Amino acid sequence: LRILGIETSCDETAAAVVERDAEGRSNVLSDVVLSQLDEHSAYGGVVPEIAARAHVEALDELIDEALKRANVSLSDVDAIAATSGPGLIGGLLVGLMTGKAIAKAAGKPLYAINHLEGHALTARLTDGLSFPYLMLLVSGGHTQLILVRGIGEYERWGTTIDDALGEAFDKTAKLLGLPYPGGPAVERMAKDGNADRFNFPRPLVGEARLDFSFSGLKTAVRQAATEIAPLTDRDVADICASFQKAISRTMKDRIGRGLQRFKAEFPDLPEKPALVVAGGVAANKEIRSTLQALCDKNGFRFIAPPLHLCTDNAVMIAWAGLERMAKGVASDDLDVQPRSRWPLDSKAETVLGSGK
Ligand code: ATP
Ligand code: MG
Ligand code: FE
Repeated sequence: LRILGIETSCDETAAAVVERDAEGRSNVLSDVVLSQLDEHSAYGGVVPEIAARAHVEALDELIDEALKRANVSLSDVDAIAATSGPGLIGGLLVGLMTGKAIAKAAGKPLYAINHLEGHALTARLTDGLSFPYLMLLVSGGHTQLILVRGIGEYERWGTTIDDALGEAFDKTAKLLGLPYPGGPAVERMAKDGNADRFNFPRPLVGEARLDFSFSGLKTAVRQAATEIAPLTDRDVADICASFQKAISRTMKDRIGRGLQRFKAEFPDLPEKPALVVAGGVAANKEIRSTLQALCDKNGFRFIAPPLHLCTDNAVMIAWAGLERMAKGVASDDLDVQPRSRWPLDSKAETVLGSGK
């Protein structure tokens, strides 16, 4: 099986070709990503209109490039997989319509892929994981703890009730006068800071539910910064270090509970259970080492795919399409519509009526 994947849900335009050969070996034949960071950084965040236009301008050429690098033509692929949600509607329209057009013209089936499913299944490509496992997605738009039971079988155990974790980093950076994206800037400053100077809140710590909340933390940072303004570099470093510490402690509590729940639900798995991390915040060394230590303590394997497959990419979309096709899941009709909101867990959708 060989699949062409297309990803345009946020600020990365991406195309990739992934295959599984007759012996069951999986290969990434190409992986092309064009980040729009430069277009958005002046605005301190992703501007939907600019993103959509940039996708239009780049996508066709990127797909050609992905096919060329994979050394295949459209007639050599078995299906097209395109992200159809959740995300910014303009970008989703560009990617999904392009996917449809290619599918129609080449006479290939189309798989409309949930972006979150792409993140959720990546570890099966990179690490050959078997079901079930736990996945923590921490990016600019999402903070979710998901039970991955199987292809198409996901349970959302926890989500943020306000800001996403990456968003909290970005907003905190902005109010401290640090550049966008905030995560790397905050982490860099935190290295030389005193993490014990400020005692920032650890939202929801101790609560039985597995949700997250980060907006109070951001408010506490704003208050601290206002009180001691004007800020010296030392102040900023101390705030960043204290902020990161509060987040690490919060994750330790929240994810620790998730691991316990997983063990209670699956007491006799044949192999060591696994926690997979995805999303741009997975680059953060302190959060990573917190999760690693937590997994060690609880007898879990900690799996962090290579960073370029943790952030947005089309390999994961092609892979999700491949997994669906290999399982015999029906492809999508060409009238399928993009959805800006589309929870992975359909129960979450009917109960809450929303949620990304
Ligand atoms: P999605 O739609 O999947 O949420 P996104 O573009 O918002 O996409 P990613 O590209 O996966 O998300 O990740 C970007 C986020 O990761 C930003 O919020 C950025 O600040 C954060 N980030 C990147 N590096 C770090 C780091 N070292 N520490 C903390 N956060 C980081
Ligand atoms: Mg991104
Ligand atoms: Fe993503």
